[in-house]
Amino acid sequence: MGIQPFLVASSLLLVVGQRLARRLCPHCKEVFTPPPALLAELGIDGPPPDFYRGAGCSMCNQTGYRGRLAFFEVMQPTLTIKEMIVARSHAEAIRQQACAEGFMPLREVGLRHVLAGETTIEEVLRVTMEIS
Ligand SMILES: [Zn+2]
Repeated sequence: MGIQPFLVASSLLLVVGQRLARRLCPHCKEVFTPPPALLAELGIDGPPPDFYRGAGCSMCNQTGYRGRLAFFEVMQPTLTIKEMIVARSHAEAIRQQACAEGFMPLREVGLRHVLAGETTIEEVLRVTMEIS
């Protein structure tokens, strides 16, 4: 963007990414076991956790969804990350460093909402598609 990296590093306080996903209808959601291929794609091995889907009912106009769910990824740049910005490190390297420091990417945050029965894996994959 034509901004000097040290100016970015010194003024950056927090980086937030957010997505909106459709929330599962609480009146008709049901447990199901996703196909093994999907579990493998998500990096889930061992006994599969419960996933949920909306069967569709009169409360959700047969869509299986009712309302929206917002979820966020939040990165507070550490000294190491600020040094990487100044050194013009590649964005992916910065992302990997952030993950090593505890940063949880949107797709992982979304997966936790899936496992909590709040939305579907299809919704999380759909709204996080361009970032992973
Ligand atoms: Zn419903």
